[in-house]
Amino acid sequence: MGTMAGLFDGTPLERPVTCEVCELPRDRCGCPRNAAGVVVLSKDQPARVGREKRAKGKTVTMVSGLDPVASDLAELLRRLKTACAAGGTIAQGRIELQGDHREMVLTMLRELGYPAKPTGG
Ligand SMILES: [Zn+2]
Repeated sequence: MGTMAGLFDGTPLERPVTCEVCELPRDRCGCPRNAAGVVVLSKDQPARVGREKRAKGKTVTMVSGLDPVASDLAELLRRLKTACAAGGTIAQGRIELQGDHREMVLTMLRELGYPAKPTGG
């Protein structure tokens, strides 16, 4: 990753670091960032929505491809659970919802700006 930090070190032009996306000072920037501090917008997180069969014939809807730091998975899970009236959890950076809710999940993710696509069967 290239960085501009240090470019003006020791010169009168040294300035506070601004966000490369919204151009606000970094301490006022609300852009989503990944664990490395790089901005990762919703549109740059290709969500994948699939389903898996579990024990006893249960089906779960899986959401993968979201950055677990840049996206608030807990808040997203809460919204999906409400919309689908289903239980769910976060496991290994993926959202799992009980039951087959692929259409609802795809619709909600797209409304939130994620380029969501269905996977598998
Ligand atoms: Zn920003």
